[in-house]
Amino acid sequence: MSDAVKVGFVPFSTAPRGILVVFCDDALKFGPATRKALGGADNLVKRAAATSQFKGKSGSTLDILAPEGIKIQSLIVIGVGKLSDLKDKDFLKFGGTAAGKLRPGNDTLTVIAELPDGAMKPESAAAIAVGVRLRAYKFDRYKTRKKDGEEEALRADVAIAVDDSTAARKAFAPNAHTVDGVIMARELVNEPPNVLFPVEFARRAAQLRKLGVVVDVLDVKAMTKLGMGALLGVAQGSTRPGRTVILRWNGGKRGDQPVAFIGKGVCFDTGGISIKGAANMEDMKGDMGGAACVVGLMHALAARKAKVNAVGAIGLVENMPDGNAQRPGDIVTSMSGQTIEIINTDAEGRLVLADVLWYVTKKFKPKFMVDLATLTGAIMVALGTEYAGLFSNNDELAERLIKVGLETGERVWRMPLGPEYDKLIDSQFADMKNTGTRNGGSITAAQFLQRFVDNTPWAHLDIAGTAMGAPKTEINQSWGSGYGVRLLERLVAEYYER
Ligand code: MN
Ligand code: ZN
Repeated sequence: MSDAVKVGFVPFSTAPRGILVVFCDDALKFGPATRKALGGADNLVKRAAATSQFKGKSGSTLDILAPEGIKIQSLIVIGVGKLSDLKDKDFLKFGGTAAGKLRPGNDTLTVIAELPDGAMKPESAAAIAVGVRLRAYKFDRYKTRKKDGEEEALRADVAIAVDDSTAARKAFAPNAHTVDGVIMARELVNEPPNVLFPVEFARRAAQLRKLGVVVDVLDVKAMTKLGMGALLGVAQGSTRPGRTVILRWNGGKRGDQPVAFIGKGVCFDTGGISIKGAANMEDMKGDMGGAACVVGLMHALAARKAKVNAVGAIGLVENMPDGNAQRPGDIVTSMSGQTIEIINTDAEGRLVLADVLWYVTKKFKPKFMVDLATLTGAIMVALGTEYAGLFSNNDELAERLIKVGLETGERVWRMPLGPEYDKLIDSQFADMKNTGTRNGGSITAAQFLQRFVDNTPWAHLDIAGTAMGAPKTEINQSWGSGYGVRLLERLVAEYYER
């Protein structure tokens, strides 16, 4: 499963084994340690590059099987392009590309972490290691019969050769916890819905107790007492009861306002009485991608003992059609006291989030809240699978999210909010209705959420296009992407730790 590929750092002097991965620029230049590792093979590389039109462009690769003059299985040259154009996140991709060369059977890989100018920051070497681990993750727990040539599971040791292995190890240590968090989120998203339902999800989230996270699980009785009528209205159509889980990591100064992350955890979304079509309904096991991200993020923060007070809150339900399911036309009363007319029972995520956002606002008075939700198909119409939609009542928070999005490659694109959109969810029978018109569907969904955040600085990330089913990348070959863990971990690390 996840950790069949081990990554470590070794000094340049260690003899390379198995597959050797090296870097060159767009002039096909190598650094001194790389030339040494290549022995007499660098002329061979020049000839192979010429015949295969390899020009050292960033991310391009040249594969040479069993090169003469050096005791390795194969040599992979990865182009880094122009050194001045290199960004932090490029090193993640290089690691992913390197790990992509592993096959069952070739079980060792050595990366010479050196740029052609002879230098590489420990952080960049660490990013390569992160890329290796993110790429290597595979969800195959339920495959008991492998096809021909697939029988062997991928098991590999990856050695990253660096100038200063102590510094690289130190730079990698906190990142290793973030990778664990991403993998945890991917795992939760990939699990089938008969295995991962609200009570089981809550049980898995509660395992963060081992890291010192304080975990409170609110059952139906507790949520009823709190008046969470919006969330419970969704949950009532399933024989599996809903849960709200509150995770608290207190690594900051005592009494410091916490930062808060809220996730939509619809473990399966049939649409309810407003039932979805059959095509691709199986993908709705991933409708808990926001909650998965929050759990992965809280893991990352707690495991590296982040100096911050953080709250993670997830609303877990199953949206099913049933004799007891809520109907279009029902009016429910949310914990905030505001009433909601249900127009479409498939617009359930916002109902779940409404009560969890309100609960967090009132109970924790956070510095800010970020919610993540696979909320609308409309966001995919607008942005495809490259960017998550960002909606916010706070420019500073929005700008920070955009910046860390570019740094991590988990990008967000800001969408509008405003009174003209807000009035589209006014209802003739209640304080609001749970859907607007067909147009601007991701915006009216965000307007709905905004009615439950009071004046708390807040950002909503619509991750319907990025959390699952997005095209595979150099650093993700899994259906569930774990989107958002690296983004928010970076947000906290850069701006909110003392
Ligand atoms: Mn839905
Ligand atoms: Zn949903």
